[in-house]
Amino acid sequence: LFITFEGPDGSGKTTQIQRLAEELEHRHRPYLLTREPGGTKIGDKIRTIILNPDHAELADKTEILLYAASRSQHVTEKIVPAVEEGKIVLCDRFVDASIAYQGYGLGESIDTVKQINAFATNGLTPDRTYLIDVSPETGRSRMKGRSGEPEEGVTRAANDLDRIEMRALAYHQRVREGFHAIYAEHKSRICLINGEQDHDHVFHDIVDDFFRLLD
Ligand code: C5P
Ligand code: MG
Repeated sequence: LFITFEGPDGSGKTTQIQRLAEELEHRHRPYLLTREPGGTKIGDKIRTIILNPDHAELADKTEILLYAASRSQHVTEKIVPAVEEGKIVLCDRFVDASIAYQGYGLGESIDTVKQINAFATNGLTPDRTYLIDVSPETGRSRMKGRSGEPEEGVTRAANDLDRIEMRALAYHQRVREGFHAIYAEHKSRICLINGEQDHDHVFHDIVDDFFRLLD
C-alpha cells in the first residue's frame, strides 16, 4: 500500500504523517515513513540543493528536474522495494506536489511536469493521498511558529523558511489552487481534509478514512 500526504506548507502534514506512523507502530503493522525531496542519501543531497535559500539563481526547469531526480531515486531505492515487502509506505509529498508547486506555482506546463514525473517514477501512483488544505495565511503563520532543529543546508534556524517557503503569498495561493485542481481530477484517489481544524480533528478525519482502506 502506497500512501502520500500533500498540502501547502504549514498544513501540518508532517505532524499527521508521524501520528499515523505511531498508530501503525502501535498496531504492529510494518510500514516505511519517508519524505520528499529526499528519502535517500542521493535524494537528501538534492534536497539541500533545491531548498538552500542561498541558491536564488536556481532556474525553474532545473528545479523541476531536481525534484524528479530525487523522486526517481526514492522510488527505485525505497518505495518500490518496501511495497514489494508488503509494507505500508507513508510518503510526505510525491508527484502531486510537483504539479502544484512547479506546474501551477511556477506556471510551467502541467503536461510537461506530468510527463517528466511519469518517466521518473515509471508511472507509480499512490493508492491513497491525503490532501490537507489550508490557506496560505494560515500556512505561513504556522511555519513561523515551527520549533525543533534547523535543517542542515536548508534553513539556518528552526523557524527560518526554506527557498520555496520564502516565495510570495501569491505563489502559495497558486499552489493551493493547483492542489484543488488536482483533487477535482482525481477524487477517487485523493481524500481532501480541512487543515484549518486543530490537529486532533485533522487526525481523526485521516484515521477514519485510512482504517477503512486497510480493512
Ligand atoms: O514537505 P516540506 O514542506 O518539508 O517540503 C520541503 C519544501 O519543498 C517545501 O518548501 C515545499 O514547498 C517544497 N516543495 C516544492 N515542490 C515539490 C515538493 C516540495 O516546492 N514538488
Ligand atoms: Mg515546508
